[in-house]
Amino acid sequence: MSEQQHRNKSGFETRAIHAGYEPDPATGAVIAPIYATSTYKQDGVGGLRGGYEYSRSGNPTRTALEGALAALEEGEQAFAFASGLAGEHTVVRALCRPGDHVVIPDDAYGGTHRLFDKVEQAWGLTHSTAAVSDVDAVRVAIRPGETKLVWVETPTNPLLNIGDIEALAAVAHDAGALLVVDNTFASPYLQQPLTLGADVVVHSTTKYVGGHSDVVGGAVVVRDLAVAEAVGYHQNAIGAVPGPFDAFLTHRGIKTLGVRMDRHCDNAERVVEFLAAHPAVEQVIYPGLQDHPGHAVASRQMKRYGGMVSFRVTGGEDHALAVCDRAEVFTLGESLGGVESLIEHPGRMTHASVAGTDLEVPADLIRLSVGIETADDLLADLDAALSGG
Ligand code: PLP
Repeated sequence: MSEQQHRNKSGFETRAIHAGYEPDPATGAVIAPIYATSTYKQDGVGGLRGGYEYSRSGNPTRTALEGALAALEEGEQAFAFASGLAGEHTVVRALCRPGDHVVIPDDAYGGTHRLFDKVEQAWGLTHSTAAVSDVDAVRVAIRPGETKLVWVETPTNPLLNIGDIEALAAVAHDAGALLVVDNTFASPYLQQPLTLGADVVVHSTTKYVGGHSDVVGGAVVVRDLAVAEAVGYHQNAIGAVPGPFDAFLTHRGIKTLGVRMDRHCDNAERVVEFLAAHPAVEQVIYPGLQDHPGHAVASRQMKRYGGMVSFRVTGGEDHALAVCDRAEVFTLGESLGGVESLIEHPGRMTHASVAGTDLEVPADLIRLSVGIETADDLLADLDAALSGG
């Protein structure tokens, strides 16, 4: 049994707190220190201590974070990056070549869509889009022999569509492709794609994993050693790694991921219940609702349904914008997954770049990242914002 498999036998919260780091033998420091160093003294040429040579290639603070990430996703190895997109780009360069093809979600996070559409396409990688909730559509989009990656998000942003990870892995593998799951919205506490057949997990750790809106970061976790070798080589070759302070902040956030996620889910459930009964709300979109088309799949593959809630208001775009402006405890802002509640208007903010395309989102849609404040305060804030108070 590998060290990783052994570690994976502990409970999630135990792994979140202990995996990746043993108290420093020299000082007993319980928390991995911030190793603010770019280089390391060698004991004779090539005599590396612990394999550390130069901090782009490896840094002990980052090693601790990567150990924790691998343990949380039940992967063989994890790699930390300066941002989610840096990790995504590295995965593409590690696993694809010019002339290859990938399938991406038809409602992919805008930055992911831009990466494939503008950056990887210029390098010679083609892509097709498909709805992640429609396994047949994904199968049709795959070009056997050409498609190297099937890339999905679940839940998606902002409409919270759900992809069936097991079924999508089977479809990808049948065609000789790998399944990559962007697990940013669920976090490893709610969903572990590698245990459901995915080959690679990517995260914007900027969101729930870091959890405090104080650091931008990314992660890639893999379950196969050959894939790990390719990603590790490209992590060093491309060099988009986090500095030790960023790695420290993300690792610090991880320790409370389980308790934070449960509170995010508790509060989101209260918000959903409140919005569903509100006369100024047309529709609530949340995978935990029975009428959500992905409810059955989400119930199978997620522990709970997460902290992201989208809803449509009566009165169209003007009312949606006014609600966003009036909210006070919910801070008007982009991003998600932090302890503080955020509200945004996807049509004008996160998804403004897809206006006029197939990816355009409804103008009366509001997205909430429900934080871990006192739930009653969140409901009162939404009530006042919806009622014009
Ligand atoms: N994936 C998803 C689902 C995201 O929401 C984001 C950012 O919002 C990213 C990837 C990109 O991550 P980053 O902003 O850390 O580069």
